[in-house]
Amino acid sequence: MNIDGKTRLLGLIGTPVEHSKSPAMYNYCFEKYGLNCAYLAFDVDMDHVAEGIAALRTFNVMGCNVTMPLKNAVIPYLDEVSPASKAIGSVNTIVNKDGKLHGYVTDGMGYTGQLRRGGVEIAGKTVTLLGAGGAASAIAIEAALEGAKEIRVFNKRDAFWDRALANLKTIGDAAPACKISLSDLDDAAALRASIETSDILTNATRVGMAPMDDASLITDLTMLRPELIVTDVVYNPEETKLLREAKAAGCRTFDGLGMLVGQGAASFKLYTGLEMPIDEVCDAIYR
Ligand code: NAD
Repeated sequence: MNIDGKTRLLGLIGTPVEHSKSPAMYNYCFEKYGLNCAYLAFDVDMDHVAEGIAALRTFNVMGCNVTMPLKNAVIPYLDEVSPASKAIGSVNTIVNKDGKLHGYVTDGMGYTGQLRRGGVEIAGKTVTLLGAGGAASAIAIEAALEGAKEIRVFNKRDAFWDRALANLKTIGDAAPACKISLSDLDDAAALRASIETSDILTNATRVGMAPMDDASLITDLTMLRPELIVTDVVYNPEETKLLREAKAAGCRTFDGLGMLVGQGAASFKLYTGLEMPIDEVCDAIYR
């Protein structure tokens, strides 16, 4: 990579950032396309959000990803935010358009984009969505805005429950054509009935990731019929217990790595207008 006086800067802000693979992923793509851009990670904590965003303006940064804990905190400092960001109060991508900073959330685009690459359009689909945290909310708003018919969220009655009720109302207001409900994950009969009449089952909880890597929320495997599409947001391990058992039941599956790189691809497209070579990036950077 040749850095010169015309090189455009992009980056990641949040904390911690030193283990992020985003710099490797974006710089790989800049090099592949011969773009005169460079991407760095900047450790910015909650006490320095205003300065961090001001620096993006001062240095005329081309774009920036935002990670925890700043995804919500950056919003008041931006000039515009997308409808999805507004609905769930989260920005993971900032694009500098002629000096104006526009915020987007691409996590859910990673989910719908991965399905689309596999020939599955979310529009018109009924989804049983396990989880109501950050990943689940991003999926729900994007799926709803892209025309999903119904999203049935199942969560434990844990600390996420009350926030989920408020979040799902906001999502429902933003996408009124999509029917959205919240049910107790421990209600096995309701879960079974929902999965039976869903096109897609998505795990968007931490179950499946270490230390719960030997667990799956679907313990009754008769709930998995071959026509059901099963997806998981957990990307480490790449194949979760749920996906392994769904495959064995004959279901089509989509893993969390495809969603993770897919959100990077959606950000890359917002920055450059170009398609990220997703499979190549998965192999070169993540496997
Ligand atoms: P979060 O803390 O915001 O939400 C956690 C969710 O998991 C909640 O719904 C909670 O109720 C549920 N949960 C936790 N323990 C549970 C248990 N024992 N039984 C049932 N439900 C349980 O977390 P998040 O940011 O939404 O992340 C969730 C998972 O998604 C993590 O594994 C994370 O690595 C992954 N993730 C993947 C992507 C991707 O692009 N593939 C993006 C973001 C997050």
